[in-house]
Parts: sequence; structure tokens; C-alpha cells
Amino acid sequence: MRTSICPGSFDPVTLGHLDIIERAANLFDHVYVAVLDNPEKEPLFSVDERVELLQLVVEGESLENVTVEGFRGLSVNYARDKGAIAIVRGLRAVTDFEWELKLSAMNRNLAPEIETVFMMTSAEYSFISSSAVKEVASLGGNVSRWVCRTVERRLQDKFGRKVGEQRESN
Ligand code: ADP
Repeated sequence: MRTSICPGSFDPVTLGHLDIIERAANLFDHVYVAVLDNPEKEPLFSVDERVELLQLVVEGESLENVTVEGFRGLSVNYARDKGAIAIVRGLRAVTDFEWELKLSAMNRNLAPEIETVFMMTSAEYSFISSSAVKEVASLGGNVSRWVCRTVERRLQDKFGRKVGEQRESN
């Protein structure tokens, strides 16, 4: 049984995340999507909300070998708890590279038996990030191409009616 984890904030889950999760689910027998519960980050969605949204998205795609959970602490400890052999991370622009290089080196130091596996973003999702989605949604922009319908609705709930109004005028 080859297990991996996909750790992240997922605040909220985007189609870019989903692409990486689906591709990881094709490579590994089981994938744990680990939603980081880090109160210092002041997320828009609570960890329970983020887990719920991811579960809906994963069920929608019928990814039966994917489990979504919240976690606190170090990714490598979570990976060890799950018996995972790999941590999967997505890479977008060069700007992701420096941080991911540091993170993977630190994780390798802490847990040499766990490999970090990088997947290049699919071209159509290369510019999507949770923070950009939140910013556009908060300003009333249409985010329907970047997140699933449920996430779009939850963003509307958080930011008021602006998001829906923009969709109608487009
Ligand atoms: P973190 O705060 O740990 O970076 P994120 O939720 O922003 O958490 O991202 C989780 C993972 O998904 C990271 O590996 C990130 O690089 C990847 N990711 C995010 N957006 C995309 C995207 N559009 N395409 C590919 N990978 C992505």
C-alpha cells in the first residue's frame, strides 16, 4: 500500500488543488489531503469548513482513495502517522520554487524516509491561488472558472452578494 499526503491550507480549495489531488490519487493507492489547522494564518474559512468543502469536491469527483482530514503540527509527523511514503506538493511559478525547496529540505532532514514529490501545475490552473480567489471574490469578481460551485457560493456567503451580482452582469 503506497500512501501519500497532500498538505496545505486549502483556504478555500481551488480547481488547481483538485487537479493535484486527482493526479496524486492516480499515482498512489491512498491519498490523505491534510488541511493545516494553523490559527496564526487567520484563514477565511475555519478548518472544519475547509475540510467540508474539500470532502464535497472529492466526493463530486468520485475519488474513492482520497481521505480529507484536518491536522495540526508538522506535515512529516502527520505523514508518519499515516504510514505515508511521500508528501505531494504542487508547483506553479518559479516563485513557489524557493519556498518549496527550503520546505522539502527541512522535511527531508526531519524525516529522511519520506520523499517530497512535486507536480507541475496544469497550464490552465497555473495562475490560480486561494489568496487571489479570495481577493477577486471580495471585490465582487467572478471566480466560477477557478473554484467549484459550492465554494463559489460559500465565498458569496462570506463576502455578501457582490460575487453573485458580478456573475449576473457578465
Ligand atoms: P500552503 O499554504 O501550504 O501553500 P495551499 O493551500 O496554498 O497551502 O497549497 C497547497 C498545495 O497546493 C501546495 O503544494 C501548492 O503549491 C499547491 N497548489 C495551490 N494552488 C495550485 C495550483 N493552481 N496548481 C498547482 N498546485 C497548486
